[in-house]
Amino acid sequence: MEILQNRRWICLTLTLILKLNCSGEVESCTRRKVKRLLSFQRYCHASRLLRGLVPHTPGSLHLLDDDYLGQAGHMLSKVSAWNFDIFLFDRLTNGNSLVTLMCHLFNVYGLIHHFQLDMVKLHRFLGMVQEDYHSQNPYHNAVHAADVTQAMYCYLKEPKLAGQLSPLDVFLGLMAAAAHDVDHPGVNQPFLIKTRHHLASLYQNTSVLESHHWRSTVGMLRESGLLSHLPADMSQDIEQQLGSLILATDISRQNEFLLTFREHLDNQDLDLQLASHRHFILQIALKCADVCNPCRVWELSRQWSERVCEEFYRQGDLEKKFDLEISPLCNQQADTVPAIQTGFISYIVEPLFEEWQRFTEPSLLSQTMMGHLHKNKARWSRLRFTHPTSESQMQPHVEEDPEPEEQSLLFTV
Ligand SMILES: [Zn+2]
Repeated sequence: MEILQNRRWICLTLTLILKLNCSGEVESCTRRKVKRLLSFQRYCHASRLLRGLVPHTPGSLHLLDDDYLGQAGHMLSKVSAWNFDIFLFDRLTNGNSLVTLMCHLFNVYGLIHHFQLDMVKLHRFLGMVQEDYHSQNPYHNAVHAADVTQAMYCYLKEPKLAGQLSPLDVFLGLMAAAAHDVDHPGVNQPFLIKTRHHLASLYQNTSVLESHHWRSTVGMLRESGLLSHLPADMSQDIEQQLGSLILATDISRQNEFLLTFREHLDNQDLDLQLASHRHFILQIALKCADVCNPCRVWELSRQWSERVCEEFYRQGDLEKKFDLEISPLCNQQADTVPAIQTGFISYIVEPLFEEWQRFTEPSLLSQTMMGHLHKNKARWSRLRFTHPTSESQMQPHVEEDPEPEEQSLLFTV
């Protein structure tokens, strides 16, 4: 029965997506494109630096047969499982994993009814968000956003949190997860600064990408009119809180968040009755969801690792091509996938998830995640030393490792 309902839900979702994409929207679509000229999507096509690197594949839209919809619906009935395969789900929904997942979760939580949301506006907003992710990015694309949203959903369901969250908390958590990397250009902030991208100067070289993800989200919220029926102070509050959540994903602020989190846990002073404390936990949950790849089962984790490194290498190739200094982690000849992953796990992921596990006291999910994390880390370590792929990897390691804080700054993706 549940599968049938899910199936009907997906049919409705996809029908709406097709309608919005294919008919009656030409005028507003053109208006939208003109209005959002500042987005990286548009910039990529106009930029001298990036021109030619964006493969222009004609958008093909295949109608799904019932089998695929049935399988996607079946997957949604197990969406809280930590081994949820988002890659498969994206294939089954014909690349609409983010829209389909968000509609399903909004339905599960009764958010459409609670906030009196207009279904057409909701689909339009989610369609815009999904469309503004760059499908040509190996990592920062709509599937990553869907993956982070699914992880966020699992964290919102943690026994420690679930009973304390208001509908607004859940709404903000899911929306921030879905939109947190929207219009990501596939290069990092140092690259934008050194190439003097206009957004780097607009945001004064600070949280450049995160600020852009947030401002783009606000633009799409207003354009879709999703919140236009709410009192002005409420929609403003939602926009601000979304900003605070999305900006928390800036990895260069990792230590600031980690130290505050640790202090709260040491002092045992987190009071989830307080909206400000719940907001802080939502920030931490989103940060965890954003970097949880090493906590997934090896088969999924490995695919994400290869994708993120592929994106780094593409940036390195671009820097090489334009005679710029190659950024850390972006040199395919020197920085191997196992080396990048062991550093990322040791300096970013493990310290954060150790505290998250403490916060959940520890939950079954936290223990499962830490189990995968330790196994995956050991596997990358073995691969690092058994299959060195570059000359530098074969030399005995004599240099001292930099301080953890310095190391974590390398991962400002
Ligand atoms: Zn992300």
